[in-house]
Amino acid sequence: MKDCENLATCGFFRKHLEAKTLACQGFIRQYCQGDKQDDCKRKIYKQQHGVPASDDMLPSGQLLAGHEK
Ligand code: SF4
Repeated sequence: MKDCENLATCGFFRKHLEAKTLACQGFIRQYCQGDKQDDCKRKIYKQQHGVPASDDMLPSGQLLAGHEK
């Protein structure tokens, strides 16, 4: 499986790769570098709206609340 084509510019990936929380790592493995990337709500949002979703929107479409910096 190749990586998501948005990987280099995706705010979620850039922000949370460094945070390295287990939950975010799981999303990255499943979506950004895995076979669920075409189901990613961030990707769909960008296709529909032409602009990236908030960095805190998860690939599942939920918003992260109170995420540690
Ligand atoms: S969060 Fe979605 S759009 Fe961003 S890199 Fe991962 S799969 Fe691609």
